[in-house]
Amino acid sequence: MVLALAMATPVSAQGARSKVYISVDLEGIAGVVANSQTSAGGLNYDWARRLMLAETNAAIEGAFAGGATEVLVNDSHGSQTNLRADEIDRRAMLITGQPKPLGMAQGLDSSFTAAVYIGYHAPGSTADAVHGHTFNNALNTVKLNGTEVGEYGLNAMVAGYFGVPVVFVSGDKAAVDMAQAFTGADGLSVKEGIGYYAAKTMHPLEAREKISAGVRAALVKRIARRPVTLTTPITLEIELAALYHADMAALVPGVERVSGRVVRYTGTNALTVYKVSRLIMNLARD
Ligand SMILES: [Zn+2]
Repeated sequence: MVLALAMATPVSAQGARSKVYISVDLEGIAGVVANSQTSAGGLNYDWARRLMLAETNAAIEGAFAGGATEVLVNDSHGSQTNLRADEIDRRAMLITGQPKPLGMAQGLDSSFTAAVYIGYHAPGSTADAVHGHTFNNALNTVKLNGTEVGEYGLNAMVAGYFGVPVVFVSGDKAAVDMAQAFTGADGLSVKEGIGYYAAKTMHPLEAREKISAGVRAALVKRIARRPVTLTTPITLEIELAALYHADMAALVPGVERVSGRVVRYTGTNALTVYKVSRLIMNLARD
């Protein structure tokens, strides 16, 4: 610890408050590949949520070691009650439950200095992506200004709206590669997808150590980061899996039908664009 602290100056040493936001998903956690792990009630769900909790606590540890004075964790998977409030590192605050207006980006605002994404996965059309999807399987693809993005991209757009850089992303290799390219964040691949339900995974203990060290290192050099800023007007294009979901999406004011399954929204406010994506996702539920 002493050795590590001597290597770089944590953010708190600059005397400023540093609020770190951590959004945690489940599919990109080391050791998680199966539906029985990601679905509440699944045979291995309780085990998987413990893995998720441990990576979350590792990230919190890294954030405080990197100079955070406050940490807010947002449970961002499924029921969004995966993380048990009494098992989270007590120094952090937790957003739990759903629905919440901004979903995986809930709680973020311009008072934060950095955002961290843990356990993230790639979009659905990506090869070798473990549990690839964006929000749910009703959305085939989501594009921002013509670039396909996963949840990392939409959430990073919200962080960018608030002027907050994404500094660290962990998840499967496909997710981390894409998220790094989009956000410029540091990344840690904790597993490599072999298929939708299979991966070569890092040992969870190893992943936790690396997440903790990675978050700390990312915060120490945070000043060099830039928030994601998209050129305006921002074009959101969503291809839905079902035509009848595209019918519903096309009812949203401002949304145009591009083709049978594809709808488009164009706007200058990144937060509004995000809300429209959330609305379309929610309309595309059976
Ligand atoms: Zn997700």
